[in-house]
Amino acid sequence: MTTIFSARKIITMNPGQPSATHVAVRDGRILGVGSLEELATWGAYTLDGQFADKVLMPGLVEGHAHAMEGSLWQKVYCGFFDRMDPDGKIWEGSKSIEAVIERLQEAETQLADPDEPLSGWQLDPIYMNNERVTRHDLDNVSCTRPVAVLHASGHIMNVNTKALELSGLLKQGLNHPGIPLGDDGLPTGELKSPEVMTPVGPHVGFDRAMTDCDEEGLRAFAKLCVRTGVTTVTDLAARLTDDGVDMMLRVTGEDAFPARIVPFRFFMGLPPKELVEVVSELAEKSTDRLRFGKIKVIADGSIQGFSARMRWPGYHNGAPNGLWYITPEHLAEIYDLALAANVQVHTHTNGDQATELALDTLETALLNSPSADHRFTLQHCQLADTAQFRRMHNLGMCVNLFANHHFYWGDEHYRLTVGPDRATRMNACHTALSSNVPMAIHSDAPVTPLGPLFTAWCAVNRLTASGKVQGEAEKISVADALYAVTLGAAYTLKLDSEVGSIEVGKKADFAVLEDDPETIGGDKLKDVRVWGTVQGGRMFAAADL
Ligand SMILES: [Zn+2]
Repeated sequence: MTTIFSARKIITMNPGQPSATHVAVRDGRILGVGSLEELATWGAYTLDGQFADKVLMPGLVEGHAHAMEGSLWQKVYCGFFDRMDPDGKIWEGSKSIEAVIERLQEAETQLADPDEPLSGWQLDPIYMNNERVTRHDLDNVSCTRPVAVLHASGHIMNVNTKALELSGLLKQGLNHPGIPLGDDGLPTGELKSPEVMTPVGPHVGFDRAMTDCDEEGLRAFAKLCVRTGVTTVTDLAARLTDDGVDMMLRVTGEDAFPARIVPFRFFMGLPPKELVEVVSELAEKSTDRLRFGKIKVIADGSIQGFSARMRWPGYHNGAPNGLWYITPEHLAEIYDLALAANVQVHTHTNGDQATELALDTLETALLNSPSADHRFTLQHCQLADTAQFRRMHNLGMCVNLFANHHFYWGDEHYRLTVGPDRATRMNACHTALSSNVPMAIHSDAPVTPLGPLFTAWCAVNRLTASGKVQGEAEKISVADALYAVTLGAAYTLKLDSEVGSIEVGKKADFAVLEDDPETIGGDKLKDVRVWGTVQGGRMFAAADL
């Protein structure tokens, strides 16, 4: 059974045939691309004209996101910027602490059970003169039920008095750097670091390991994918418990599930040898829409949280150097074993010292286990300099740069964290490409919103939230940006033989667009309207979700 779709334009990402008017699909795969006359040579077909006025491009590939974005939408959105939820509703950003409290109060009135916790997410004090939310602010939402708001970074949470009481933290004499105290000697309600948040989590509705998504969350995440043209997406730090794996297999196996999920096993919780073994075994459970077999390592923290590991001269405001999340020995062991087992590792490095560690470690590991095509990838890698990109190229590494970060936090990096010159070179897409390092760009959803065309806009324009162009020399072309969110990202996942371009034999995965991203203009890329997706030959209209 062959269906031939006609379109206003098909952007293929195949240099041998950059655009076409028709694509033939059989058994969920691309049978051919060309004119109707050419495709008709395959025999009987049904002509489907519903995309005749639309633009098709390869289904977008998000190489760094977290499915927990879907689960977080079950909580109250408290972010600064407007943001679309899985049902397509745009939530207006809360521009002050008062606005955050009002939104929580409104949500509170909807809760029937008086003991049910109320939780919000995506608070970011950096946009509110760094003013902190206190337990007293949140007591204005409720004194009787526990209330919590998670910060955009995911590493800090504010809770009300009731939540502190339930967790046994409402007492004098606490002495922990992650639990700031007020004038009364009691905690202010701010909880910094996963270590102090974890015991409170169960009382405030963050009761599962926060890196995992639940069933409802996974479905919601997939809806966001359809709305943003994404057909293949990573879940870049999953614990992958037996129950979690069973749930993901079941949900992604449903006929109506619209995306291909690539979960990476988070490195913590298992010694390296077992980690590599478990991931190798998991790979055998992979299905078309669920691809196991890869490892995610986190080397350091975040730049805006001053927990990234920096080389000299360190932070611009004099903050002490950040935190290692892994020891060099541990990283070396994972790289050695993974290379030997042909298991791919993606490593989060934010600071340039963390990037240097990953480069040094891989250089040594490759001497023990040479690999011609490992595609180990640096994730974020925001502060890499030109010499480090050259090393990535020499070592056969890929990079996935955090283009969205430049928009959301670029002004703060310039002013506060790393200073003008390093803020200007951050997420150096142009240097990556001119150093011949295979490159993707990403959102890190839920840290910033899922939406590869927005991410592409960020890389093309390098605007910060205040509207300043930061790093003219690191801008890339629209063509390079569209490549980065399709074949570029697919390459980092070793999926470029299956997805990322519209070519014979590949999956019939398309982003269906109302506007043409190649001609709309780089400054309007983020405004390209998405009709929905075709995934494995199945159609998903955003309007019908
Ligand atoms: Zn991430």
